[in-house]
Amino acid sequence: MPIDRLADLTSPKLAARLVVKVGSALLVGQDGTVRGEWLDSLVHELAEARGRGQEVIVVSSGAIALGAAKLGLAKGGRGSLADAQAAAAVGQIGLASLWSERLAARGIAAAQLLVTLDDLEDRRRYLNAAATLGRLLKAGVVPVINENDSVATAEIRFGDNDRLAARVAQAASADAVILLSDVDGLYDRDPAAAEAQLLPRVEGVTAEIHGMASKTSGSGLGSGGMTSKLQAAEIAERAGIALAIVNGTHDAPLARALAGEGAGTLFLPRRRDAARKAWLGGRQRMRGTLVIDDGCCAALARGGSLLPAGITAVEGDFTRGDPVAVRDSEGKAVAQGLVEYTSDEIERIKGRRSDQLEALLGYAPRAAVIHRDQLVLR
Ligand code: GLU
Repeated sequence: MPIDRLADLTSPKLAARLVVKVGSALLVGQDGTVRGEWLDSLVHELAEARGRGQEVIVVSSGAIALGAAKLGLAKGGRGSLADAQAAAAVGQIGLASLWSERLAARGIAAAQLLVTLDDLEDRRRYLNAAATLGRLLKAGVVPVINENDSVATAEIRFGDNDRLAARVAQAASADAVILLSDVDGLYDRDPAAAEAQLLPRVEGVTAEIHGMASKTSGSGLGSGGMTSKLQAAEIAERAGIALAIVNGTHDAPLARALAGEGAGTLFLPRRRDAARKAWLGGRQRMRGTLVIDDGCCAALARGGSLLPAGITAVEGDFTRGDPVAVRDSEGKAVAQGLVEYTSDEIERIKGRRSDQLEALLGYAPRAAVIHRDQLVLR
């Protein structure tokens, strides 16, 4: 029986491995100090979850907020990339010791992992991270993870810990992700509107669901917002992982949020891609785009490979093995995958039949531009 309601996330059978993401606004008060009592009450709940037999991974934000307060930086340290990186470097030391001390007080060892986007985009590094997480959990440790903000530049950053948490859950083969935040969940329209209704359950993050996301984060302390939370739900759903967005502002945040319906939004996965395809589909950074015609779209939907004949345009400069987005003639994202040819080669073979490739290029190691095994539909 799969996870079906928020309360199931407390079950060691249904949610044996949990990722709990803590937003900056929960951990750090508006004055820049740590919300110590709140943190204690959460750590108490995490210890309880472990007592029930659940394994726990924490993804903790708050480095930038803590560091900015210490350095007296404007805009919570988010005024510039250099400010954010300096704030994160200062704040992360404190953040790690906070978690380590509070968990130790309950007899639990903590481990720190700082990761960049590339660590999880590169297959080999991703598998490495997965192995480390597995080993830590086996040793009874609680991994506490954050983005390595001090070295990650704009192009190689997640920028928000929501997607990071979903990617970590995927790497750790977790059963569920809980995003503890300062919003109640997903509303069907701007939550400020009088008629706005909280959605208790979402099956599949469709375009309609994306349309409901408001663009801003309530507190201004974190960088998340509903958009990145929905992207996180998409990454999780692809891997067959449930994801909950719950309001964690109060003490005993997990008990309150998971006790009943209406306390948050639970995203249920519709499918479970094989592990490698889930990783591929969760990749964030594409090197280019292939535009394809309607016939090719239909062939992909039937499970086919992407052949040169259906390609109408190539954008970007990429090499063999790079991840690229696939769009239809209207610009809608239909798939992503790893290419067998460089962008220059595809420029030369687009619109042509596979049996013409050798004459065009002088070689033709592959009939497809993206083989179906290296392709995931959106
Ligand atoms: N990694 C950032 C920090 O520790 C937080 C990112 C986010 O707000 O999601 O401050």
